[in-house]
Amino acid sequence: MVFKIYHFKSLYSTQDKAEEFASNGIENVVVISDVQTKARGRFNRKWRASKGGLWMSILVKPHNAEKMQYLTFCAAISAADSIKKISKLNVKIKWPNDVHYQGKKLCGILTEGHFGKNDYAIIGIGINANQEKFSSDIKHIATSLKIINKKNTDIKKLTILIIENFFNLYNNYYCKNKFDKIIQKWKSHSDTIGKNVKVITTQKTLIGKAINIDENCNLILKTKHKTIKIIEGDVSIRY
Ligand code: ADP
Repeated sequence: MVFKIYHFKSLYSTQDKAEEFASNGIENVVVISDVQTKARGRFNRKWRASKGGLWMSILVKPHNAEKMQYLTFCAAISAADSIKKISKLNVKIKWPNDVHYQGKKLCGILTEGHFGKNDYAIIGIGINANQEKFSSDIKHIATSLKIINKKNTDIKKLTILIIENFFNLYNNYYCKNKFDKIIQKWKSHSDTIGKNVKVITTQKTLIGKAINIDENCNLILKTKHKTIKIIEGDVSIRY
């Protein structure tokens, strides 16, 4: 598959720039920026994207864009695999989309789908690579490859590896509806299943054991009283 990479020094948001490309009828584009000044996470939370990190958004127009939860999984697998290869760190995926190292977040993923005449999905991947410190509001939850390994990571190399890994999963599994393969790979990287967790959803906070992921990427939580399917939420793992 042919895709184009656009690299900027600074953008408000790589997601917004990718959206601009989409509205101009372009697809299979990767938008990279050295800095994002108004990056967002899930639920419109603020994402810190200062210099030193790897910030990119991938724009695709698949025939099955409504299955975009699997794109999030593909991005998380690609990021985890690539970080493992380049940084030799035993990173894990926390459901649904954080790549972390010993409980601290190294990578965040945001997938935004647009449905209508022209379906498309934009997958944002942010990796804390060479930042040396974080602001006080996130320093207890965030870490970077530099902080862990005490040396710089070649961001270009990491970027290319992630893109290759992502499009590999995208072409071979996602576009061919082989979702079971994506789930299988995701599970091999995740440390959420089998753990006691706290899940905060928009409605409530639940405590229980994460017992599985269903075929639609939902988390299956077993509480004291029942088994619940969690579609969206924040999980903290109780190690
Ligand atoms: P998640 O990554 O858990 O899905 P979000 O997409 O909501 O969460 O990410 C936004 C949250 O991540 C922010 O509210 C903040 O707590 C945290 N955060 C912001 N920037 C960074 C960063 N560069 N590294 C790690 N965590 C961050």
